[in-house]
Amino acid sequence: MYKTDLHLHTTHSDGNLSPSELIDLCYENGLRHISITDHDSTEGIEESINYSIKYPDLEIIPGIELSTDFEGAEIHMLGFYINYKNKDLQKVLKDFRDGRQNRAYSIVEKLKSFGIDISWERVLEISNKGSVGRPHIAQAMVEKGYIKYPKEAFEKYLGRDQIGYISRTKFTPEQSIELITKYDGIPVIAHPTYIVQKSAQPNKDLEKILSKLKIAGLKGVEVYYNDYTKDQITSLLKISQKLDLIPCGGSDYHASGNPNEIIPGTVGPPVECLVELKKIRHPF
Ligand code: AMP
Ligand code: ZN
Ligand code: FE
Ligand code: FE
Repeated sequence: MYKTDLHLHTTHSDGNLSPSELIDLCYENGLRHISITDHDSTEGIEESINYSIKYPDLEIIPGIELSTDFEGAEIHMLGFYINYKNKDLQKVLKDFRDGRQNRAYSIVEKLKSFGIDISWERVLEISNKGSVGRPHIAQAMVEKGYIKYPKEAFEKYLGRDQIGYISRTKFTPEQSIELITKYDGIPVIAHPTYIVQKSAQPNKDLEKILSKLKIAGLKGVEVYYNDYTKDQITSLLKISQKLDLIPCGGSDYHASGNPNEIIPGTVGPPVECLVELKKIRHPF
């Protein structure tokens, strides 16, 4: 039923399936247009495009997901059709990944002071030398029996308000929009409800944030996302129409090992989303 999923992770960041494993799963589940959107990395895209030759009716949309700092919270920015072959872009992404590595090392050290002893080498191994993130640390903690599921690590240790949290230097949302646009990508804000969870008037605040980012060059917003309810989708769709932002979406699948994970093929935007993205994509 769902043909499009524009938010997927692989082993090149914190996903647990390689690009080829992910592509097989997506195709078997009926998807025909997918975007690989690893955190701060486009390393999985060429492999994905090459592997997709196996499926002539499968379209791979090059993508990325950048984490940004926003008023004590985070905004994640997706970039569709980004020119991943550009060397200057790759230099910036490498810097982000180096920052991730330093931060993950510091988190592992901090956890030691709380009696949680996981090995840095093991975290690096799990991360497959890709873009290291907290889920890799969480997985090492599962392996050592400190927790049952990766998400427990976030609830008890690694989440923003928990004892093992350490931040890292990130772009602002505006800078990420600028970077994505500079390298021919279409900036789309990911899982928008996560930014204003603590707010009393989430929709009003979200509308304000999105209209500010629209001025900075934002082109779309994730409306059909992961486990969003019908009501959430309806309200986000309304905001996207009001602000003239393209309603996008996807599963944000990681093969995380957490219970009840949303599987690719069970959520996604209508085909009009891709039509709209293609209208404004950089000509090549
Ligand atoms: P990082 O890139 O190191 O900041 O880690 C962020 C990633 O951790 C997200 O992309 C998700 O894959 C995962 N994540 C964030 N919050 C949670 C949570 N509460 N439970 C499980 N995974 C999470
Ligand atoms: Zn992730
Ligand atoms: Fe995200
Ligand atoms: Fe994601």
